[in-house]
Amino acid sequence: MEKNEQLLHEKFVKFGANAKEWMRKCVLLLPEVNRYSIWKKKGFGSIYEYAAKLAGMSRNTVEDALRILEKIEDKPNLRLVAEQKGLGAVRPVVSLATDENEKFWARKAASMSKNTLETYVREFKRQEEERLVRAPLDAVTETTASRARPGTDASGQEEVQAVKTATVEIKMDLDKTTAEMLLKLKGSGDWNTLMQELLRLREEKLAAEEPIPVVNAKRYIPARIKHHVLQKTNGQCAYPGCTKPHKILHHTRRFILEPTHDSKTLVPLCTAHERLAHQGLIEHEQGEPESWRVRQEADRDKAIYAVDRRVMQYRRSRELQNEGRAWDHPVEGNREAEPAWFRAEGEEGEAER
Ligand SMILES: [Zn+2]
Repeated sequence: MEKNEQLLHEKFVKFGANAKEWMRKCVLLLPEVNRYSIWKKKGFGSIYEYAAKLAGMSRNTVEDALRILEKIEDKPNLRLVAEQKGLGAVRPVVSLATDENEKFWARKAASMSKNTLETYVREFKRQEEERLVRAPLDAVTETTASRARPGTDASGQEEVQAVKTATVEIKMDLDKTTAEMLLKLKGSGDWNTLMQELLRLREEKLAAEEPIPVVNAKRYIPARIKHHVLQKTNGQCAYPGCTKPHKILHHTRRFILEPTHDSKTLVPLCTAHERLAHQGLIEHEQGEPESWRVRQEADRDKAIYAVDRRVMQYRRSRELQNEGRAWDHPVEGNREAEPAWFRAEGEEGEAER
């Protein structure tokens, strides 16, 4: 890019950031303006007209803001995040927040991008639903002795078990020949058994083709390893239930601690799930993806935690520099500019830029 083009862009980013900041300030005043009917006293027909004429706000923006701000009115921590990051940052959690847990959700909203937070909330709700489905079953089977509190390892296994036993209907469009072959294979048996067998064969084939890991590697992942890893999920994010295409090949054993490319410890992830991994919020991350679930807090005792913090801090600083495209840009496209410690045989202790 030419120098004057770069300057033009920088100007736009700066003005844009200011525009967003002032709009945030404006939005936060809406409940008070409404409470004292200031719009009426100033001769406007409604709060919508007032906000549209004086600040260029759409009716949707006003409605959304009043709704969210009412919900977090008595939740000081979430309110603080809304003031700093805007209403969009707290929107995904307002329906979950209570007086007791608002501090927890405020921390999550402060540390995550909107996309990552939405994903985290989705997983969180799903696990909660599974737990509720599971609860009556537990009461019947009385496996009470080993039952742990929600959020601990043991209950995680139970939830995974509960999901495995639930059935899901899938509709498929198959060509005639394939459909006939499958029907023949199923015979008088059931679909689940047949599909499990086909999946097992596929897994065995992939396992037999597992490429030899590259140790003492450079950051660049060899094509044959990349190809093999992507085959396992057909290029989709490996997180259970996530249907997004992958954006990043993630090292479940951090590359900086163990500079190895091993198809057994590399997983394709979408941006949000990769961020959650680096926040230390995926339980059993180094196990099979089927056993993954989100956790409430990272395990700070692990070496991986310190590395992840550096990765997150580094990305945050880049994102702030890049305010216009802040939060959740694809990492792979920006590799060139990453500092050496992030890219390869990272010297611990090297100063961050
Ligand atoms: Zn995903």
